[in-house]
Amino acid sequence: MTSFSDLNLIEPIQRALATEGYTTPTPIQEQAIPYLLQKRDLLGIAQTGTGKTAAFALPIIQHLSQSERRAAPKSCRVLILTPTRELAVQIYESFGTYGRNLKLSRTTIFGGVGQGQQIQAMSRGIDVLVATPGRLLDLIEQRQVRLDSVEFFVLDEADRMLDMGFLPAVKRIVALVPKERQTLLFSATMPQSVAGLAAGLLRDPARVEVTPQATSAERVGQTVLFVDKEHKRALLDELLRDKAIVRALVFTRTKHGANRVAEQLAKTGVRVDAIHGNKSQGARQKALDGFKSGKIRVLVATDIAARGIDVEGITHVINFDLPNEPESYVHRIGRTARAGADGIAISFCDAEETAYLRDIEKIIRQQVAVDAGHSFHAQHIANARATGRRPPGPQRRPQPQRNNNRSRFSGGGNNKLQSAGGRA
Ligand code: AMP
Repeated sequence: MTSFSDLNLIEPIQRALATEGYTTPTPIQEQAIPYLLQKRDLLGIAQTGTGKTAAFALPIIQHLSQSERRAAPKSCRVLILTPTRELAVQIYESFGTYGRNLKLSRTTIFGGVGQGQQIQAMSRGIDVLVATPGRLLDLIEQRQVRLDSVEFFVLDEADRMLDMGFLPAVKRIVALVPKERQTLLFSATMPQSVAGLAAGLLRDPARVEVTPQATSAERVGQTVLFVDKEHKRALLDELLRDKAIVRALVFTRTKHGANRVAEQLAKTGVRVDAIHGNKSQGARQKALDGFKSGKIRVLVATDIAARGIDVEGITHVINFDLPNEPESYVHRIGRTARAGADGIAISFCDAEETAYLRDIEKIIRQQVAVDAGHSFHAQHIANARATGRRPPGPQRRPQPQRNNNRSRFSGGGNNKLQSAGGRA
């Protein structure tokens, strides 16, 4: 098995990894680091959770520390573009962690917060800049940032970036980065649009691909609960009585939905917060910090806001709504079962979502087990799923079914689930 010392990483980096408790490189690290140390361009097909941040951060830190160059004022030596602020902060923090024994300056640039500090941080030039495209372009236009010292250019989560409409901004940024550079592009998926972008950006790239889908999906205990739409919230209340759900990430399809679910849970005394694009940066960071520290038990999120969230110890992912893009399902459930741990993913499926479920089962290449042992089980949806027909409209009344007393959500714990039959 390869170890970090086989990868020719310098001692201060190895020491930082040891401090973090990393013993062996992940597959993407094992494959990508040798190419990157040779200064090759790289096309990385990998999603968050595979260790891809270290895969690019470690060799970049090593290159930086081995040359005496300095960034010009207002410029940077490394530019990392990410689609979201949360991901920007995480990458920024990772550079701090892996570079702890070396002297590196780093900062972030993203929207939703004042720009004064960002301008200040850039004024004398900086080693590592992690930025989202919109604010970066703003500051470039104001002549507060320039990109003429960039030696390493990383485009992270390129597929998301394009989904979010950042292609024009990315192209404008690329045009400002020196041609002589090392370029890395990471993407979880490789649609035509991303392949096109990569072809224009990368020079003779090495290609590394890791497919964690199957492995992470295998480690996650997945169930689907058929429920009429109007009973979803009551069902969530019922689930959350189970103390085995220590730290849960709940996904909704819309920002509005996230707020509604969070408000309702708060009323029932659950320690909850929501994270989505309409919240200020401060509020999002507060929610994340609370979730990380355990102050908050349930974080309700939309897919985009949850990108790159890297919180350890998420025991449960609950899909309050099924995603209409099946890849999002894989991303979502990958938030639990991090770093070798087992996790549990529970999906609600209403009458309108059975087609989404079919698409998901196609890409994960397995059937999700049905859990009918809850108070709101909608047999008509289960029947429709079995026959592949569209189910009839939602039933008017819940059909309470008594639960057995064993916790079904903890893999066999003995917490008791109470029947929530009368509360709809
Ligand atoms: P990423 O895919 O970069 O978001 O990383 C996912 C998680 O894996 C992060 O919490 C990292 O700290 C962790 N991680 C990355 N590389 C390793 C490694 N070689 N050994 C153990 N944990 C790692």
